Amino acid sequence: MDSFRTVESLQSALTSLKNQGKKIGFVPTMGALHGGHIKLVEYAQRECDVVVVSIFVNPTQFNNSGDLQKYPKREAEDLKMLEEANCDIVIIPDVDDIYPENYTKNTISLGIIEKVMEGEFRPGHFQGVVNVVSRFFEIIEPDKAYFGNKDFQQVAVIKLMVKVLNLPVEVVGVPTKRLSNGLAMSSRNYRLSDKEVDESAIIYKTLIKGREWASKYSPAVTRQKMIDYFNQGALKLEYLQVVHPETMEDLNQYWVPGAIAGIAAFSGEVRLIDNMELIEETEELHTP
Ligand code: AMP
Repeated sequence: MDSFRTVESLQSALTSLKNQGKKIGFVPTMGALHGGHIKLVEYAQRECDVVVVSIFVNPTQFNNSGDLQKYPKREAEDLKMLEEANCDIVIIPDVDDIYPENYTKNTISLGIIEKVMEGEFRPGHFQGVVNVVSRFFEIIEPDKAYFGNKDFQQVAVIKLMVKVLNLPVEVVGVPTKRLSNGLAMSSRNYRLSDKEVDESAIIYKTLIKGREWASKYSPAVTRQKMIDYFNQGALKLEYLQVVHPETMEDLNQYWVPGAIAGIAAFSGEVRLIDNMELIEETEELHTP
């Protein structure tokens, strides 16, 4: 695996690979890698000749400076994991190299995505995501880029960005990798005690219950039952929404195919998110 610290050194390596006609797959990360990130690498390896992973904790997507400071850093372990996964290239750049002086960061109008769930509770977060991913796309010019469906609003933001900025890259959403108790893998899990990992399984259990209730009740009733169930556990709920998968608007009376429940909650100081499709894309809809 080749690792680079500067944009310039990465670009010269990529130029020669592209000249050989290699198809480039890109996996952006903020480090503190886990099995979910490796799943993205594996998806990219199946479809591309060369896989590039970035490790960059992007300051512009944190609306809370404490959260940014406490973001876990595990560079040596990250490099080992990527090496073991047979990743081809890793880029670990400095902030000044990603956002040089006089560089104008891209922003786009995100409509409702920016106003609900993660958009509502992390103001400015998605514009930060647009800043950094568009910059990496500009540097790497990948053929395909891989993102986790755990951050399903993020996937929607990137797809919209690619459309609006007319970028020649295919965006691929990858299913969520979970621990055996159902908790979605996350870099933030490194900050949880064993007890908190156990307790945090309530997020997954609530989503599974939601699927069951969705076959009997309306979205509004299902949501309320999920909230009541969740609140029997030890975590503090920030939001639990049942939304349309494309418009992200709240569902109340009627289900739509692909309806999604999104949850954000705190285990102690650690903020966790997860989501699940409650009604399958192909499922026949019942009238509550
Ligand atoms: P992060 O390092 O948290 O910014 O995540 C980098 C990428 O990995 C994002 O596209 C995430 O959606 C994705 N990701 C994070 N956790 C998981 C997971 N448990 N399963 C699959 N992908 C994930």
